[in-house]
Amino acid sequence: MEPVDADLIIINASELVTLSGENIPRIGSQMQNLCIIKNGAIACYKDTIVAVGTTDELLELVNIQGMTIDAKNNVVMPGFVDPHTHLVFAGSRENEFAMKLQGKTYLEILEAGGGILSTVRATRDATIEELTAQSKIRLNSMLLHGTTTAEAKSGYGLTVFDEIKMLEAISLLDKEHPIDLIPTFLGAHAVPPEYDGKTDEYVDLIVDEMLPELTQKQLAEFCDVFAEEGIFSIEQSRRIFIQAKKLGLKIHIHADEIVCLGGAELAAELGAHAAGHLLQASETGMDALANQKVIAALFPSTPFFLMLSNYANAREMIQRGIPVALATDLNPNAWIESIQVILTLACVQMRMTPAEAITAATINAAYSIDRAKQIGSLDVGKKADIQILDAPNHEYIPYHFGSNLVQTVIKHGKLVVLDQQLLI
Ligand code: ZN
Repeated sequence: MEPVDADLIIINASELVTLSGENIPRIGSQMQNLCIIKNGAIACYKDTIVAVGTTDELLELVNIQGMTIDAKNNVVMPGFVDPHTHLVFAGSRENEFAMKLQGKTYLEILEAGGGILSTVRATRDATIEELTAQSKIRLNSMLLHGTTTAEAKSGYGLTVFDEIKMLEAISLLDKEHPIDLIPTFLGAHAVPPEYDGKTDEYVDLIVDEMLPELTQKQLAEFCDVFAEEGIFSIEQSRRIFIQAKKLGLKIHIHADEIVCLGGAELAAELGAHAAGHLLQASETGMDALANQKVIAALFPSTPFFLMLSNYANAREMIQRGIPVALATDLNPNAWIESIQVILTLACVQMRMTPAEAITAATINAAYSIDRAKQIGSLDVGKKADIQILDAPNHEYIPYHFGSNLVQTVIKHGKLVVLDQQLLI
């Protein structure tokens, strides 16, 4: 083989978890196959992966003109992809957490003017500088925990001005921070108080004003709707999505979380990239997702914080051939930046295997945000987004709960975390 020039090489990975495979979302037993290279190595040039193999093969093949990192028999894998976050918000809601512990439900807290509407008030009151500053602290934490790409939604502004402000904050953070952000418009996250009882009029505002303005400014790639009983109906959601598609946006949906409304079916009908939550998805909804290969994005942090005993039925979804992704769903109601914690919750509460959970938080997550050509696996030609964890094998990652195992993170070929310290 021709020698390959590289400016960074990582050697001596106990397991190089490549997640290499066919160019389709992983389903069924494919989710179990991480395509591991034992005693692996990986080489990069500039921002791109140029060689993958065993340490012996790469030391022979690669002409190294830069840094060599010794993984010291630890796991080396792609950076985590977090495909569903509400990263940008102002304030915090620990008081509500205490209320939930006393038995108040999400909808009761919402009806008492708390919940999402208190975050809406705080986010409207915040300047764009305040929003980016608060969100950047969360992004730093995400990077330290191994996340190298994340989706980020608007949805706490709920006016034309404040939704645009949130999307502009996402755009600024994307430029400033090593984590790549995929922007999603979620104007239909809740009905703002000034439209109380006039949901159809608020949907008009989304369709006639918000969507045209933000797409003209190129501030979003996806459109999302919180389709839920008492919030946005399937018919209202469809109206928003049809306009969003007309304007060139791709589709995500919050579906069938609290009641079974038919969100999964709508996701399949519209060719959504992902349907999120799905705790109450029906048999027909799951069949529709499987047939259309819509990714089921599951967030075990949400039932965990709501103290529910039922989680999304990941085992059945995998058995039915639905590609499953995992995300933090980071938001002020379930504040979590670490995908590692999500992996453990997915294993313990949804009975996913460690390998399935890792697939769901890397390559399948990348598919759900339409980035699988660039990231999500360690393949030659993809972006060099790589992490080294203090773990002898991949099963150890969800097993060792609550500590941050990520030691080193490389984003686009640059070292951004070393010995658990940010280098940015
Ligand atoms: Zn969400």
